[in-house]
Amino acid sequence: MKPFDYQRPSDRDAAHAAAREGAMFIAGGTNLVDLMKLEVMAPDRLVDVSRLGLDGIEVQDGGLRIGAMVTNSDLAADPRLRRDYPVLSRALLAGASGQLRNKATTGGNLLQRTRCPYFYDTDAACNKRAPGSGCAALGGEMRNHAVLGTSDHCVALHPSDMAVAMRALDALVEVEGPDGAIRHVPLDDFYRLPGVTPHLETTLGAGDLITAVLLPPPPQGAVQVYRKVRDRASYAFALVSVAAVVTLDKGRFSQAALAFGGLGARPWRDPAVDALLVGETPSDALFAEAGKHLLRNAAPREGTEFKLPLARRVLSAVLKEATQ
Ligand code: SF4
Repeated sequence: MKPFDYQRPSDRDAAHAAAREGAMFIAGGTNLVDLMKLEVMAPDRLVDVSRLGLDGIEVQDGGLRIGAMVTNSDLAADPRLRRDYPVLSRALLAGASGQLRNKATTGGNLLQRTRCPYFYDTDAACNKRAPGSGCAALGGEMRNHAVLGTSDHCVALHPSDMAVAMRALDALVEVEGPDGAIRHVPLDDFYRLPGVTPHLETTLGAGDLITAVLLPPPPQGAVQVYRKVRDRASYAFALVSVAAVVTLDKGRFSQAALAFGGLGARPWRDPAVDALLVGETPSDALFAEAGKHLLRNAAPREGTEFKLPLARRVLSAVLKEATQ
């Protein structure tokens, strides 16, 4: 590992000042330290944000404000989250291992990097790691890659379970800029698609610090489901996952918010699929139509074709469970 400077300030001004000088923030480090060991990332200076008072969960405006340093374990176990946002609690528990969840944080989870094996192999071409070098995954081994939102420059998958559930819940990311100004970014606007610049993954600017995630008030009467299909029962990334928050009124969908993991270059949400359900009576035919619509622009490649029928089946099963 390349030597680096480390500092752990207790006030945000010092953290921002270091960031302005080019330092990188570190939270739980469960992904960044691995990347540094492999020299996929090699920051000269790290600023540990664990002592900046970012570790509380509070009720705010009828919803929840989750500090960026709240660990995945503490968040999943919070009784308010388990009661009002079970889709998120289940998604968190479906991710990683118990040990990793004890260390991984809310802010860090949002920023975790793809698990494309070529990204981690510094001998392989990878536009995300080394812009302009090519993409070894194209023509290489592809199974855990994306089929939605990809480009000819990168087909990497976003790995987070947590962010998928947060997209279904219309979460906002609270960001503090280097000048101290706070802004709230919908998750829809937080992640970029790869296009020709796959190394740019979010809309965060230099020195921006994630301070919290805001969940709006829980949707009244909604059924929430998270289902993840993976190669083994634990400690594996999603082949396909579905987060569903749906409400029925007089036997018809009155509200639907669906988000998907294992499919997209970012945690995937397609408002057209939600709209297709609203006002309709649940049926196998409707669920099949929703799956077809979800994948209308899918671009499977050799090795990822299996995801299309799998996604349709998982979506149908989740909608059936939510409407029984
Ligand atoms: Fe790199 Fe993306 Fe290609 Fe993987 S898919 S090798 S992350 S450019």
